[in-house]
Amino acid sequence: YLAIILMSAVLESDVSAQESNEAVENQVRALLAQMTLEEKVGQMTQIDFSVISVADGQDAENPIDPAKLEEALMQYHVGSILNAPSTPNNKAQPIGKWRRLTQQIRDAAARTRLKIPVIYGIDAIHGATYTQNAVLFPQAISMAATFNPELSFREGEITAREVKASGLDWNFAPVMDIGRQPLWPRLWETYGEDVHLASAMGSAYIRGHQGDDIAAADKAPTCLKHYVGYSYPLNGKDRTPAWIGERALREWFLPPFEAGVLAGAPTVMVNSAEVDGVPGHANRHYLNDILRGEMGFDGFTVSDWEDIIRLYSRDKLADSPREAIKIAVMAGVDMSMVPFDYSFYYLLLDLAQSGEVPLARIDEAVARILRVKYRSGLFERREPALPEAGYFATAEAAAVNRQAAREAIVLAKNDHRLLPLSKRASVLVTGPAANLLSVMNGGWTITWQGNKEEFYPQDKPTLLDAIRQKTEGNVTYVGGKQFSDEINIEQAVSEARRHDIVVLALGEKTYTETEGNIDSLQLDPVQLQLARAIFHTGKPVVLVTFGGRPRIITEIANQAQAVVLGFLPGMEGGAAMADILFGDVNPSGKLPISYPRDSNDITPYDHKPIEAYESNQYRPLYPFGHGLSYTTFETNGLRLAQPAIKTGENLQLSVNVKNTGNLAGKETVMVYLHDVAASVTRPVKQLKAFKKVELQPGEQRTLEFELTPRDLSFIGLEMKRVLEPGEFIVTVGSETASFHVLN
Ligand code: BGC
Repeated sequence: YLAIILMSAVLESDVSAQESNEAVENQVRALLAQMTLEEKVGQMTQIDFSVISVADGQDAENPIDPAKLEEALMQYHVGSILNAPSTPNNKAQPIGKWRRLTQQIRDAAARTRLKIPVIYGIDAIHGATYTQNAVLFPQAISMAATFNPELSFREGEITAREVKASGLDWNFAPVMDIGRQPLWPRLWETYGEDVHLASAMGSAYIRGHQGDDIAAADKAPTCLKHYVGYSYPLNGKDRTPAWIGERALREWFLPPFEAGVLAGAPTVMVNSAEVDGVPGHANRHYLNDILRGEMGFDGFTVSDWEDIIRLYSRDKLADSPREAIKIAVMAGVDMSMVPFDYSFYYLLLDLAQSGEVPLARIDEAVARILRVKYRSGLFERREPALPEAGYFATAEAAAVNRQAAREAIVLAKNDHRLLPLSKRASVLVTGPAANLLSVMNGGWTITWQGNKEEFYPQDKPTLLDAIRQKTEGNVTYVGGKQFSDEINIEQAVSEARRHDIVVLALGEKTYTETEGNIDSLQLDPVQLQLARAIFHTGKPVVLVTFGGRPRIITEIANQAQAVVLGFLPGMEGGAAMADILFGDVNPSGKLPISYPRDSNDITPYDHKPIEAYESNQYRPLYPFGHGLSYTTFETNGLRLAQPAIKTGENLQLSVNVKNTGNLAGKETVMVYLHDVAASVTRPVKQLKAFKKVELQPGEQRTLEFELTPRDLSFIGLEMKRVLEPGEFIVTVGSETASFHVLN
């Protein structure tokens, strides 16, 4: 058995990058040398906006209390602020107001002894979510469904620009957690279940967001979260324990973070929960040995919300808040998110003065924070990096968003070609998801939970609005104003009888984090009841779903003629869905997760070999990568450049893809690999490459792919990445071919 340990790719930085790195390191060293211990501990402190806001945060115009701001910067030397004012409840502020209040903060920082800028962080996870009228993209699960990294790159570019135009500095995105636990209420914040897809989408986002020069006026630092294993709680509840063995961790959960570090993300947020009995905030092995030692990360880590204290209050790793801080800082947490009362500051100061936390460790953390501040150009600017006009909510950004929403929607079923519908059809629209913007946008939109429909811009179309705008036929709506409003089933049934077609929009209401915990993926019984009554009429039904998780729709999907899965397509979701239903857009989205058939049917597509019992098999309602079009495609002529390669060589392959229907359309060609025999069990198949192409009717194109040694490798018995010689099978569409790797 021959194992070859693959060296991780070392990027050769060019000379000018090296010079600017050296300049930054000199600046960091010089500044650090001037700082008092109090100033250093302050740098490591990130406060919530509420700490500097006027009492109860209700002053809509001037939410900052100048005395509290002064105290934060002069007395506590805080290095970072996060979150948004809530005036009242609505966190989305007009852009002018954001600029004004971040300017107040910049001005206050400029009055401090060393004039160290504050880095202001925000959850701009699908656009600048807390600035009014920002471009709100599909959420990550839907971006993943586009299988189009170029769109993710553009989303990153536009989000950074809108964040900077708002006067903000830093974005708590992208989520690089792998979404393999569909109950988890943050599944939709991930790019789905596959490592390759998540890595590709996340790193494209980072590249767009940061550009070649992260200090540029329209670029901003990203934050990889939540390092690592947060997304895989055993019971599906948010912030509860995960059990991930080292091989699975290295095979599935670490690689997207590695890709993010390679793409240049300078900050990392820590997992709030625990893996194998060790809380994320106490895991020195993950935060230090792996993140820095193995991945070469040199930015800073930030805790998640109030999580350091949880090492004491929840985890009982520490017997006091003070000890919790010591454990977290010594494990490698560089910045503490959300002290409300400056206890982090006082206690860390005390720990440092008593020598329990060595000064060298404080210096190390502060140097990392300053490094990111210098690299991001924060020291060079004393006003918003971009002017207000011309950079925010541009027509170009809206067009990119519309495109993303269109490509994100997945046509899962289309019996007898019910879709696209005629614009003259008479349609009953019903179901709780038909007439809401929140249901298409998800959490972290305008408010934390994203569910305050009244704060959404009223000029954007819901699905119902968009259908009405598009059609000439008779459109009737039976439904409520909130997701939970009761729908008059009798009325829906009698209207269904009077119309040709029923568009039934179901799903789940908007939520995020622990508030979204559920005990079952089953759709709530009220929606099932409505669906059953509608099917009873015998009218053809188009099932449309919106929401963050794959709620169980098997019974309904089996009876509906067409099924269109929307997930969270964002602010253009209603328009994009109507474009698809009525044929103005040919759907091209593909599932970034396996859509379960039943609540406990949660096998991912890249599962391990399973004995041939029928009940054991991978048989989701819709498999990973599934998605139909109004045209048809065929793959043919898969060709490997060589029947065998030597260890360490790349393998070239090509395949033809043809549009065999009579409509133009986009198809994603996916290359899967299977390692036939190995020293540990290997997945039945794994996605290694994909390309999305647009083809005219009858058009055929040849696509080239290259598999690298890393693509052929896996985590071996010694927990190291190895490549074992032997046979491999490549599958592309209906085509397969095999090759050998020689010693
Ligand atoms: C979430 C993070 C988020 C942070 C700041 C936490 O509760 O887990 O994803 O970035 O809050 O809002």
